[in-house]
Amino acid sequence: MIEEKALNAIIKKLKESGVSHVVVIPAEDIVIDERVRLKCQVPLCESYNKNLTCPPNVPSVDEFRRVLDRFTRAILVQMSDTLTENRQDAFVLANRLHELINLGETEAFKVGFRFAMGFIGSCCRLCDECAGVIPGEPCRFPFKARPSMSAMGIDVIATATKAGLPVEFPVSDTVTWTGIILL
Ligand code: SF4
Repeated sequence: MIEEKALNAIIKKLKESGVSHVVVIPAEDIVIDERVRLKCQVPLCESYNKNLTCPPNVPSVDEFRRVLDRFTRAILVQMSDTLTENRQDAFVLANRLHELINLGETEAFKVGFRFAMGFIGSCCRLCDECAGVIPGEPCRFPFKARPSMSAMGIDVIATATKAGLPVEFPVSDTVTWTGIILL
């Protein structure tokens, strides 16, 4: 009962902060697929080994799967907007989702989910150029930076679809970023 009240408080805060969609799901409904991680390398993503929140700088899919087993629920969060010709607009939206995931994670921690952990919708873009391009350079905002769901091997589309959230793939008119907070 206390947990439901705490969850409702987080959801309310996220809605007030402007998320497009938010839903609570059982952690076991999160779909993990090794092919998602392989997509970081085939074809090679420009952020691979260049962004500190991307592979190979994050735990393996196996390790994440084991850790995920320890969580019971999760909050799926989406930000959607009409796609414009300016590619940068989509990343502004991705950064907004990043802020809201961090906000939701903080709120969850405050109400007692001490292992609350957020994952965003693309690689961390808090800096114009990630410190990861320079070998050995530390993250500039380690408490704010978060990896993406995909970096952990989460099949975002399958997970969102299972949760009844809208997904458009391939993207045409609407861009949607999905993040998650494990509880
Ligand atoms: S905060 Fe900056 S340095 Fe750290 S992971 Fe994000 S982009 Fe890279």
